[in-house]
This record gives sequence, structure tokens and C-alpha cells, in this order.
Amino acid sequence: MKWGLIGASNIAEGRMIEAFRGNGQDIASVQSGGQARADEFAAKNDIPHATTDLDELLARPDVDAVYISSTNEKHFPQAMAAIKAGKHVLCEKPLSMNVGDAVTMVKAAEDAGLVFATNHHLRNAGTHRAIRDLIRQGAIGDVLSARVFHAVFLRSALQGWRVDNPGAGGGVILDIVVHDADTVRFHLGEDPAEVVAMTTSGRLGKGVEDSVMSVWSMPSGVQVQTHESFTHANAGTGIEFHGTEGSIIARGVMTQNPGGEVVLRKGDETTPVAFQPEDLYLRSARMFGEAVAGKGQPAATGRDGIASLAVALAVARAAETGQRTAVDYGD
Ligand code: NDP
Repeated sequence: MKWGLIGASNIAEGRMIEAFRGNGQDIASVQSGGQARADEFAAKNDIPHATTDLDELLARPDVDAVYISSTNEKHFPQAMAAIKAGKHVLCEKPLSMNVGDAVTMVKAAEDAGLVFATNHHLRNAGTHRAIRDLIRQGAIGDVLSARVFHAVFLRSALQGWRVDNPGAGGGVILDIVVHDADTVRFHLGEDPAEVVAMTTSGRLGKGVEDSVMSVWSMPSGVQVQTHESFTHANAGTGIEFHGTEGSIIARGVMTQNPGGEVVLRKGDETTPVAFQPEDLYLRSARMFGEAVAGKGQPAATGRDGIASLAVALAVARAAETGQRTAVDYGD
């Protein structure tokens, strides 16, 4: 399988090129807004073709699938063009700037019989898969609540559009809440119904929020508490699920790397939970390739991307209005 890269981005260079090649997938071309940048990116990453013209990349018969990792406002038009050209799509989160566009692109891919996936990496982590297994096996009984700790410090190389450009989809909500929404949905197998939230900004964020705390209600009655931030250098990440029979406590698991620690706590007993430490992005690329070959679904589908975006936008709306807000999934 051969990829066309749409967006000469940090995540493409830092994670996905290696993940594609690690699965025996090739990269045929890269498209960027500037030719010099496209050429430099191609040379540095050993990609044989570089262009500023999206149609030129999409017209290439050797491109089977595209990986879209441009800034967020570009995902929708680029995905629609790729689908029109008959290419499978792995799109970065958030899928788009509003739920209606996300529904349109996912439906267009479904109607065209193309694979469409969202690059939510966390559900590929061995830690999260082990946690989900425990919950499903009833290891903590009925789940009562979840707490998500995803307040990090945004490294300076990433402090561009994320901290000052609402038009490009900047802000911590579209950046991190989407991942947390996907992870909670993955574990609990249900979609948040209503949310309340408050944001803050000013340390890093200029015109966008750089921190948010929110509470979500799940249809089953489970309560979820989340904290996402760009400004916390030492907080560490984690996720906890508390049930009638026990608790799962995980630390260092809301990251791009395969490590972390998971324990099951019941009364005075704390048991370490084993997991497979596979590279998250390698698994995402592998499952995408298998889906294109007709074997199963990608790790996170387009429908998963619609849902995570819907939750994030509800959090944004709740923070803006101060109101308890129903999540609008666009259906
Ligand atoms: P970058 O800021 O690295 O790249 C985004 C775009 O900005 C590029 O496509 C490029 O445009 C432009 N750009 C980047 N660097 C330069 C530069 N030095 N000069 C000029 N333009 C530049 O974005 P990220 O890699 O951080 O994020 C890209 C997407 O991936 C986002 O949607 C983000 O949400 C997502 N993401 C997902 C992650 C995950 O784990 N799933 C992790 C990180 C990001 P052009 O291509 O036109 O040159």
C-alpha cells in the first residue's frame, strides 16, 4: 500500500512516517502549502515526490490512501477531495471544525466504499486495551465513575497555531479533549450525553483556551471528570475507573508512548496489570492497512472521530455558555 501525505507536519515526521514504513507501507508523495517546505520535507524523509498541488497528489495512481495531518480547518476540504479521488483516508483529529462537516466526510467515504479512519492513538495502547478488558470482564463490578488526567505542558515546538489561532482549530479542547472523549468511549462503550465545563487561558493561550475541566454524564449514569491543559509541566497523566467492586488506576498512560503503569485495587490489595507495550502509531497504521485489505476495521473509525469531536464541541459550548449542554452527534 502507498500513502500520500497531506500536510508536512510534525506528527507525520515524528511518528507516522515510521509507523507506515514499519508496516511495509510506502510513501509516494507529500503535499504542503509551500514548495520549498514540501521539497525540504520530502528530502529529509526520503519521499520521492513533493507538491503544493493537492489535485496532483490525488491524481497519482500509485497513491492508495492519504494521511491528513494539516491544521484542523483544512481536514474537511482535503478529505472531501481525497474521497472524490477514490483514496482511502486516515485523518487526524479533530476530523473537522464542526460536526456537520465530519458527518459529511465520513458518510461520503462510506458511500464510496472507502476506508476512513481517525488517528486516535490512545486506544492502540496496550495499557488502554488491558484496562478495557478488565472493565468488560467485570473486574471492578459496575462502573461508577471515571477521572481523566491529561494536563501536560505543550512543548515550545508545538506552541504555534495551537495556542493562538482559533481559525486553525487551536486550543486545548480540539487538541486533547477529543482524545479523552475517544478513550472514555472506548472503555465504557457508550457516548457522553451531557457536559458541563469551565476553561481558562492566558498563560499560553491567546484567543484560545489553554486549560479546561469538565464533567460528563453517560447514559448509564457513570460520571466522568476530565482535566486537559497545555500549561502543566509536572502533573503527569492518568486515567481511573472506579466501580462497585474495585478501581483501576493508571498513570503515565495519556501519552504518545507505549509505557505507563496500571493497577487494580480492591480493598487493601493492589495488583499490577500486565499489558503489551506496542507502539501506538504502528498499530494504528497496521490496522488501517488491514482494513484497506478487507480485514476488519481501523482502530478508530470515522464514526469514532465524529463522536469525539461532538463531545469536544459540547465541552466548548458548555464552557462558553455556562450551561449544562447536550452532546449533538449530528444524527
Ligand atoms: P504542525 O504544526 O507540525 O503542522 C501542521 C501544518 O502546519 C503543516 O501541515 C504545515 O503546513 C504547517 N507547518 C508546520 N511547520 C511549519 C513550518 N515550520 N513552517 C511553515 N508551516 C509549517 O502540526 P502537528 O503535527 O502538531 O499537528 C497536525 C495535525 O495532527 C493536527 O490536526 C493535530 O491535531 C494532529 N495531531 C495528532 C496527534 C495524534 O497523536 N493523533 C499528535 C499531534 C498532532 P503545510 O503542510 O501546508 O506546509
